[in-house]
Formats: sequence, structure tokens, C-alpha cells
Amino acid sequence: MALLTVREAQERIRAAIQTIKETEQVPLQRVAGRILAQPIAAPFDYPLFDNSSMDGFAVRADDVSSATRASARTLQVVADLAAGSTLTSALGAGEAARIMTGAPLPLGADSVVPVEETDFQNNVPGSSAPAQVNIYHAIKRGDFVRPRGQDLHRGQEVLQGGQRLRAQDLALLAMLGVAQVNVIRQPRVALISTGNELVPVESQLGEGQIHESNSVALTAQLEADGAVVVRLGIARDERAAVRSALERALDESSDMILSSAGVSVGAYDFVKEVVEAQGSLDFWKVNMRPGKPLAFGSFRGIHFMGLPGNPVSAFVTYEVFARAALQKLSGELFSERPSLRVKLSEPIESDGRESYLRGIVDFKTGSAQLAGHQGSGNLFSLVQANALLIIPAGVKSAPAGQEVEAWLLHN
Ligand code: AMP
Ligand code: MG
Repeated sequence: MALLTVREAQERIRAAIQTIKETEQVPLQRVAGRILAQPIAAPFDYPLFDNSSMDGFAVRADDVSSATRASARTLQVVADLAAGSTLTSALGAGEAARIMTGAPLPLGADSVVPVEETDFQNNVPGSSAPAQVNIYHAIKRGDFVRPRGQDLHRGQEVLQGGQRLRAQDLALLAMLGVAQVNVIRQPRVALISTGNELVPVESQLGEGQIHESNSVALTAQLEADGAVVVRLGIARDERAAVRSALERALDESSDMILSSAGVSVGAYDFVKEVVEAQGSLDFWKVNMRPGKPLAFGSFRGIHFMGLPGNPVSAFVTYEVFARAALQKLSGELFSERPSLRVKLSEPIESDGRESYLRGIVDFKTGSAQLAGHQGSGNLFSLVQANALLIIPAGVKSAPAGQEVEAWLLHN
């Protein structure tokens, strides 16, 4: 079995996974985190009309070109424009309109004098506009006006298909009047844990048993990545149990099956045999730590990925491989995971595999240390870590002061 680099394994996964084709219309209020099915273009210029960027007085710049504090220019205030109100008549020479932020600039006016540069200092809410106002400063035409189309032009693409929608994207869609958004259907991912020693968190532990924890972490990871999780529970290390879990994944219309444990060469590991009976399963030896062979294939047309059983290995291989799979499945545009460079504050030994070590990054100094015991069953150091420190393949020791890449852990 050839040794794959992490990058090669990720690329094979991406190449094999079919993106979900179905899309659905979802109300804007419920679309955060979903993947946009097609690009969105602005249906109109934004802003749609010239408007004031300040509370003040809409004026004609020529009228106040000689205004100074010593020699104020007095204008007649002929209108009062709150945001949302419009003026049908045009301002004449020597006239001004009180205007609030966001109110449309009246015809005839070409600029706004902020209230601070006038003698009108009454900022009691609800007070009416003065009959006259003294302007203390000359301004340029266009000052404090947000012109139509300043931000966007009609037809301009504002969001790309395949983008995961964030709060600010939703705000923009709202501004553009998009109440229903066409997004890709969420992937359904079936989770199976295998092992005779595992009992659910609610159960009392018997002799030699442990509480099952992988599916708990994986559910949170999957949901954060936008998947709908189908929890199939614990399958015993028996052919029939594994087969029936896989069949339930099929009944639940899953797009992908994610199993943990049971894919090593142990005598009780039936997953490979059962998947292969109705599909295919490859075991990749990835040059990575932590991580055993990664199982990847399909069961009756559903993508299958088998992660290692050790809790830290399951978590890390999710981050490194399953997330790449989910991104492709979901139709999300490819993006490298955001990372930063940090300086090791202690020397680190590695074994030459590409290593994802639990670390604690100190953001003030940009340095990082190991979080504790790095055994793949030691979950507590993962809990204490705020990052995975990546030691490249081929490196067996890194001195203090060496820069390494860090992935931040925030879910
Ligand atoms: P295996 O891959 O089946 O050899 O399991 C490797 C190690 O991970 C063993 O110590 C298992 O008890 C443990 N393990 C496997 N699955 C889980 C799970 N779902 N939750 C917690 N520990 C697990
Ligand atoms: Mg096992």
C-alpha cells in the first residue's frame, strides 16, 4: 500500500465526492450557514437614491461658498426631512432643508452641512426645525451625500454561488429585497460508532466498558459544518450489527456515512467486509499523525468514510479529511482552512509524519506550546488545546523559536 500525503488523500476525497444537486428556497431569516446555490446580482443600484450621511442641513454648495465662523451665511429652512420622508418641491437659492441621516437629498440641494457646523444646536429629540440657520463653513458639492449607486450597481454580482452565508451576507440580501434564498440542500450524514466496549453516555458502565464519545464530538463538528446528522448509535463488532446500521443509513436517505473505529485489522473489525459486500472500501495509509489507515469508499451508492476509533484521532481526522468531504458534498467553494504562523516556545519531537499536535497558542506573543500528553486516546489535552500545530512531513525535531502553522480550534 503506497503512502499518501495528507494533501493527496484530501484531493482523492474531493475528486470522488459528488456534490448534492438539489436546491431549495429558504426564507432569509433561516438561511445563515447555508450554501448559496447560485450567484446573486444586485437588482437595483444601492443606495437607490442620493441621501444624507449626516444629520444636518441640505444646501446648495454655491450658497455657502463664502461661509466662515466669523461671517456666517444665513439660509431659510423650508423643509424638515426625516429618514423615510421625501420633498416634492426643489430647494431654491438661499434655501436649506433640515435633513436626517438616510433621508433622500431634496431636488436642488447638492450637499449636506453637518449640524455641528451650524448655529442650530438643539438636539432635543422631537424638536422642530428652525426657520433660519447660520452656516459656519463652506463645503464642497457632494459633501456628506451618499450618492445613488455608491455601494452597488444594478446587475453587479454581490455573492458567489457556493458561498456559505454569513450574518453580513444576510444583511446585504435583506437590503436588496431578497426574502427567499436558493440554497443547496443540507447534506445528511449518518454516524455509526462501532465497538463492543462502548455504551451510550446515559448508561451505567459495566466491567471493561467506556462511554461512547466520538459520535458526540462528530455530531457537533458536523452540525457546525452545516450537515444534518443521522445518529445511528453504536454497532457491536458483529457482521449483522454493522450491516443493519449501514442499511439504516440508506433508509434515512443519507448522503454520506461516517463511522469511527472498527476499520483496523483487528479480528473483530467487520466494517470492511460488510461495506465491500455492497460497495467498495479502500484503506489509505496516510503519512500523518494521529491517524491510522483512513477508510474511504461507498456503500450502495452512499459515500463512506471510516475514521479511527481513538477519540483524538477521530476528531483530528474529521478536521483534516471529513471536513474536506463535507465541503465538496455541500457544494461549498473550496477554501483553505484559515491558519496562522506561530513560534514554538519549546522544542518538539516528531516522527517524520505530518503531525497535528495539540497546542496552546498565546495570541499576545504569537508563540505556542504543546497542550499535554499527545497520545491519541488522551482527550484532555485536546480539551486544553486551542490549536492544532502542524509539523510537516519529514521533520523529526523542531527547535524552540521555529515557526509552524497552526489551525485554530473553535468548535
Ligand atoms: P478501534 O479503532 O476499534 O481499535 O478503537 C481504538 C480505540 O478507540 C479503542 O480504545 C476504543 O475503545 C476507542 N474508541 C473506539 N470508538 C470509540 C468511541 N465511539 N468513543 C470513544 N472511544 C472509542
Ligand atoms: Mg473497536
